[in-house]
Amino acid sequence: MNIILLGPPGAGKGTQANRLVEERGMVQLSTGDMLRAAVKAGTPVGLKAKAVMDRGELVSDEIVSELIDAELTAMDAGTGAIFDGYPRTRAQAERLDELLDKHGRKLDRVIELEVDEDALVDRITGRFTCANCGAGYHDRYNLPQVEGVCDRCGSTDFKRRPDDTEETVRTRMQEYRAKTAPILPYYEERGIVSRVDGMASIDEVADKIDALLS
Ligand code: AMP
Repeated sequence: MNIILLGPPGAGKGTQANRLVEERGMVQLSTGDMLRAAVKAGTPVGLKAKAVMDRGELVSDEIVSELIDAELTAMDAGTGAIFDGYPRTRAQAERLDELLDKHGRKLDRVIELEVDEDALVDRITGRFTCANCGAGYHDRYNLPQVEGVCDRCGSTDFKRRPDDTEETVRTRMQEYRAKTAPILPYYEERGIVSRVDGMASIDEVADKIDALLS
């Protein structure tokens, strides 16, 4: 099964993708994660992308599509893919169709997480992840059970994204409204779009997604 999780920053795409990876053995293909890894490693792609990401703008379609192509090439054909944060433009959506075709895959479902934008700033500015395993937490809504210790792997090392500031979040939302939301009709024509209320609790959103995938 191949699915796209669509929604503005902070909608919960990463959280749900993480869970699907754990529970269903799918692979999460997050272009944001791939770009952050490239920035950290100081690769040519990372050097090019860093300033754009810090401003909250979109990296070029070619760069992110190449990253996805490489991941799909490395993946086992029978493993399901969760596209998280890709595609973000019409050109990427068209390119993804070509890539899926090339890798003998078909898109089963596009799940849009619908959220209230004002609440997103609150969500995003409080979030942090385990630096070791990537488990997601939040200062106000989802702290580790033991303070300072990751529930999943026991690490005591956590990190925050440099682009999770209020100003950058506003730019990222504007980019979503202007460039990403308009790709929904492209998938609606095929009757594969489902909408889920992303303001519900993590477990409720998970149940809705599970029902869509069963
Ligand atoms: P994310 O982790 O999905 O919120 O992405 C973080 C940042 O990486 C975005 O604000 C963009 O600058 C960049 N980025 C991630 N995915 C894409 C994409 N598919 N197209 C363009 N830029 C992207």
